[in-house]
Amino acid sequence: MHGRRSPVSEVGWDSDPLVAGWAGLPSLSGDLRADVCVVGLGGSGLAAVGEVLRRGLSVVGLDAGRVAAGAAGRNGGFLLAGPAIAIHQAEAGWGLDAALALYRQTLAEIAELARLLGPGVVRQAGSLRIAGLPGEPADAAEEADRDKELADCEQQYQAMLRHGIAVQRYDGELGRGLFLPGDAAMNPARRALGLATLYSAQARLFEHSPVTAIDGGQVRTAAGTVSAGLVVVAVDGRLELLLPELAGRVRTARLQMLATEPMRPGRLPCPVYGRWGYDYAQQDAAGRVYVGGGRDHFVEQEWTHLTAPTAGVQAWIEQVAARFTGGPVRVSHRWAASVGYTPDARPLVTEARPGVVACGGYNGTGNLVGPVAARAAVALGLDGTAPPDCFTR
Ligand SMILES: Cc1cc2nc3c(=O)[nH]c(=O)nc-3n(C[C@H](O)[C@H](O)[C@H](O)COP(=O)(O)OP(=O)(O)OC[C@H]3O[C@@H](n4cnc5c(N)ncnc54)[C@H](O)[C@@H]3O)c2cc1C
Repeated sequence: MHGRRSPVSEVGWDSDPLVAGWAGLPSLSGDLRADVCVVGLGGSGLAAVGEVLRRGLSVVGLDAGRVAAGAAGRNGGFLLAGPAIAIHQAEAGWGLDAALALYRQTLAEIAELARLLGPGVVRQAGSLRIAGLPGEPADAAEEADRDKELADCEQQYQAMLRHGIAVQRYDGELGRGLFLPGDAAMNPARRALGLATLYSAQARLFEHSPVTAIDGGQVRTAAGTVSAGLVVVAVDGRLELLLPELAGRVRTARLQMLATEPMRPGRLPCPVYGRWGYDYAQQDAAGRVYVGGGRDHFVEQEWTHLTAPTAGVQAWIEQVAARFTGGPVRVSHRWAASVGYTPDARPLVTEARPGVVACGGYNGTGNLVGPVAARAAVALGLDGTAPPDCFTR
């Protein structure tokens, strides 16, 4: 990022000692053979690796950079059950069965992550959806939008009650909205590095090995190849650069965040999102507040493959941070990453080429949906099982 707004243009999560101390994995050199090759070692690719191992097959995993070098290690760290759109909207758009199936699988994914990684990584604190942003509305338009969103919260509340999903109305210091006790939060880099550590005992995983071509069961990097019966491409943003035939089915956008210097804990007891989910914040155990948002205010300029933060979006996020924390903030880190969007908010699980399945297009919310999609991609590739209706095939 350029200009005076940039104290440190790097990822706040990486200041965690366990992330900063990551010993790294080798890069690929030479020619390997495996049952399955997974391209992309974010949360989704690592779930695919775990699924292949569970089936007793051999797997090689490749990442262009460090594990979770992309959005999987650079996001808000929210583990929100359900699809990118609220359950009542998904129900209206996709049908009840598809919406509920995804909701239940993502709840199960939180439980599985907590089992694998423990409470040090997965904080099962619930989440807060509030109408608008904390604090007084700046003008009549903001007030009207907040009222509209409060009515939408009520619709979500009624839908969740109907379907037996835990939910409570919230009316407190941060405003009014809903508390969703089943949700959780994490440092996303720690999640991915933790999974890579678990799986590297059985899987052959490589970092700093960008894939340059995938054809005829062969995956190529600059210094080696992997021959595999199935290739699973688990890349959310920039997927259409690796598999150009998916252009038009997924579109890449940049999302931006910042982290603050440690602040007094207490005001944000769990991850909180407001203004229709566009703005969000969570505070970690060290007191740092991680804040992102503004996508709706910068739609056109953020349809980009670039991943550097920009002054305009960062200025928006900084004032959002002040609303969430209740006062001015001191920013320590600013960053951005690529994510994929689909036309109807339904993620993609598809056979892109013979022997090559791909998953991505999580519409800004892939921490839980991504692993669910990745397992569906493995089942599609190995068993020919059609992905469930919550995905576009
Ligand atoms: C700022 C921001 C905030 C977000 N907040 C949240 C949130 O709070 N909750 C939530 O659920 N979602 C959130 N998201 C979305 C979420 O981060 C993504 O949907 C999810 O992390 C995607 O993970 P992934 O493993 O599918 O793919 P990615 O992380 O996109 O990619 C996986 C890996 O593929 C690798 N790769 C790419 N090209 C190649 C290649 N040619 N060869 C080899 N490897 C390659 C990358 O290096 C990367 O490590 C946010 C995203 C951003 C950017």
